[in-house]
Amino acid sequence: MKIDFSSLALPRSGIAILLVPETGGLSGMAADVDKRCGGQIRRAMAAAGFTGRRDSSLDVLAPGGGLERVVLFGLGAAAALRSLDLEMLGGAIAGTLQGLKVQSGAILIDATLGKLPPAEAAALIASGIRLRVYAFNRYKSKQPDAKLLKSVSILTADSGGARKRFLNWEAVAEGVHLARDLVNEPPNILHPVAFAARLKPLTKLGLKLTILTPAQMKRLGMHALLGVAQGSAHEARLALLEWRGGKAGEAPLAFVGKGVTFDTGGISIKPAQGMEDMKGDMGGAACVAGLMLALAKRKAKVNAVGAIGLVENMPDGKAQRPGDVVTSMSGQTIAVLNTDAEGRLVLADVLWYVQQRFKPRFMVDLATLTGAILVALGKEHAGLFSNNDELAQRLSDSGYATGEKVWRMPLAPEYDKIIDHDVADVKNTGGRYAGSITAAQFLQRFVNNVPWAHLDVAGTAMDVPRSPINQSWGSGWGVRLLNHLVAQHYER
Ligand code: MN
Ligand code: ZN
Repeated sequence: MKIDFSSLALPRSGIAILLVPETGGLSGMAADVDKRCGGQIRRAMAAAGFTGRRDSSLDVLAPGGGLERVVLFGLGAAAALRSLDLEMLGGAIAGTLQGLKVQSGAILIDATLGKLPPAEAAALIASGIRLRVYAFNRYKSKQPDAKLLKSVSILTADSGGARKRFLNWEAVAEGVHLARDLVNEPPNILHPVAFAARLKPLTKLGLKLTILTPAQMKRLGMHALLGVAQGSAHEARLALLEWRGGKAGEAPLAFVGKGVTFDTGGISIKPAQGMEDMKGDMGGAACVAGLMLALAKRKAKVNAVGAIGLVENMPDGKAQRPGDVVTSMSGQTIAVLNTDAEGRLVLADVLWYVQQRFKPRFMVDLATLTGAILVALGKEHAGLFSNNDELAQRLSDSGYATGEKVWRMPLAPEYDKIIDHDVADVKNTGGRYAGSITAAQFLQRFVNNVPWAHLDVAGTAMDVPRSPINQSWGSGWGVRLLNHLVAQHYER
């Protein structure tokens, strides 16, 4: 779908979208449109009781003046609109146009929206449209009909400025779409080797891609990660994406993703019900891939590395058993008491490798790690665990700004004790209570003093309540959050 920006003018035909603040009634361009339509818009508003309340809309058919239809969207208090509200508004407008089964529409933007420059407000509305208009149709033998929305025109005074600012948001949306695609892909297609191959086109954006094979990981001593993969017919991979947009020699930010392309639970096999959703057990990895795309595409002035641990967790004659002890790259031994607690085994080696190899300024890992985080937080917040208050606060703030919210959970020695083991250094499960916390404590044993945050995204990476800017099962959660974090605090 095409989004174009042009200068503000009264449309002569087609569908016009007007943004109406709650106070003051129609003004500016909206008043001009009403005049052109012989007062029909005001009469429709009065008849429907439409006052411009936030999240309300009014569809006025054949209003006159050559227009096919005018759709009003209420802004509420326009001065109070935040960036996220404008993206949501753009998403709601796109959803309405899709619902009307029209091919195009024009949005007139001349109201002051929040405290933002008008060009930025227009670009954010366009961002919301881009995020909304996503569909995963790759496996439909018949493509949905051609009547889908083909173009949206945004009419605004500073159309050049809006077009330029939109390039930034379009890069982020493309990252979100990549993350959604990866999560939505079926697990027979997107196995670890295929996931790594999907990253190759990103090198065109200037990202450096390195893919480690099992032989290379074995030499590095990554037996925790490799143990998870040993029951699968598909080999493990560790994919590294590096972006150098910052000062030469400056330590990179590191983002680490759990990429279990399918999690059966292994020998500790999961029940059949809902197991198909475990194709999404690579949601953290998908987010890291999408984020790295976004940073490269918008040429972020920062050094960053994305590390993606890719395995498939299958039961097999060669699969690891509950009770096995493996030696991680760090040298610590791990008793694998439950083969379904596999994500932490993958991350143990990837986190260790990333801090040794890249000496990052911080590490943020994302993992669909525990069902327990759903019990604690549902789907509204991801769990946040951190050894660094500043990083944790920044993540919380970026979460509220982007709507990808995180809630901080505790780490403490009392929880850490729970995962001591009598034979090995640590065990990979701490039992039912505090399951998300003991999982985070496990990860922390593989983090030295580098600032680190762990996001447990089991509740947010997939199957979240649909919103104006996300209608997809694979949500692409975290790309916008981490892009915001980088842009706010770490770009030079
Ligand atoms: Mn599992
Ligand atoms: Zn898993």
